[in-house]
Amino acid sequence: MKKRILTGDRPTGQLHIGHYVGSLKSRLEFQNEFDTLVLIANIQALTDNFDDPAKVNSNILEVLKDYIAVGLDPNLVTFILQSEISEISDLTVIYSNLVSISRLMRNPTVKSEIIQKKNKFSKDSVTFGFLGYPINQAADITTFMADLVPVGGDQAPMVEQTVEIVKKFNGIYGDVLKIPQIYISEYPRLVGLDGKSKMSKSLNNTINFSDSTEIIKNKIMTMYTDPNRIHKNDPGRVEGNPVFIYHNIFNTNKSEVKELEARYRKGTVGDVEVKERLFESIEAFIYPIRETRLSLENKEEYLLEILDQGTKRGKKIASETLNKVKEALYLNILKK
Ligand code: ATP
Ligand code: MG
Repeated sequence: MKKRILTGDRPTGQLHIGHYVGSLKSRLEFQNEFDTLVLIANIQALTDNFDDPAKVNSNILEVLKDYIAVGLDPNLVTFILQSEISEISDLTVIYSNLVSISRLMRNPTVKSEIIQKKNKFSKDSVTFGFLGYPINQAADITTFMADLVPVGGDQAPMVEQTVEIVKKFNGIYGDVLKIPQIYISEYPRLVGLDGKSKMSKSLNNTINFSDSTEIIKNKIMTMYTDPNRIHKNDPGRVEGNPVFIYHNIFNTNKSEVKELEARYRKGTVGDVEVKERLFESIEAFIYPIRETRLSLENKEEYLLEILDQGTKRGKKIASETLNKVKEALYLNILKK
């Protein structure tokens, strides 16, 4: 039997090149070898978008289009809509007894996201649901008995917390849940166009697969670079410079990258030329993805069918897991 992967995304916007390097690329590499389950986490998206459920809803098929456009094959991958899997919510409640509030508050992802979302949450207005989202993620992973969880670096503490929950659960109730392993990609945290934060759907610092050629050009030509370099002939800094970080990932002409880096350090190339080369590389990468994505624009029925089929399969796996958990906690007396 194939080992199983569980991963997913929140439908809070369209997917971007950060998702590609942080997580989609691993999924593409694994989809033949592993039983790959991909969860569109629309319940979890509500933790910080509870005031805008229409936005979350409208992004479900956008994310699915992105998946198929980058090359996830619906014949190999099971796409699951989280809100249909009520078993995840049952497990979240059961696991919540095993996690202290202080442990949740110490979770590095929760801590940094509370700071990042300061327009949504002040220190005293963080909701129970948001604070508890690591427990919800533990439920996602364990509901589907995942062996491997490929995520970006920002999500590593979530998988660590899941392992803790599983160990505690199995220690009390017996060996029911599977201990998942994390898989972190080569580029776990792609910096955004602002050069400051992680590229994130909610931070307006992304290059999306759906962006037109003009939008991409505009975003790249105005993106952050070395702030200390004022004139074209000032020596520039390559390390940590997002323009060069992107070049190293997306420019397939490695000797051109080396040459641009050397000239940039010496101050013999302008930002405009470096950015133009970068634009060409990113456009070449995104072009086929954008084309496939466009061909899916009016295929709502086809997309919904894929999601429905995947969700049905997910539901079966989830209900088997929940039955085992209920059995272990004496919660199934009426079923006997
Ligand atoms: P939001 O701003 O709504 O949280 P997001 O852009 O952070 O959106 P998520 O849906 O939260 O995207 O994350 C989906 C997956 O992509 C996770 O595994 C996450 O670690 C990974 N990921 C997100 N952003 C990046 C990034 N900039 N670099 C690498 N991986 C990333
Ligand atoms: Mg995120």
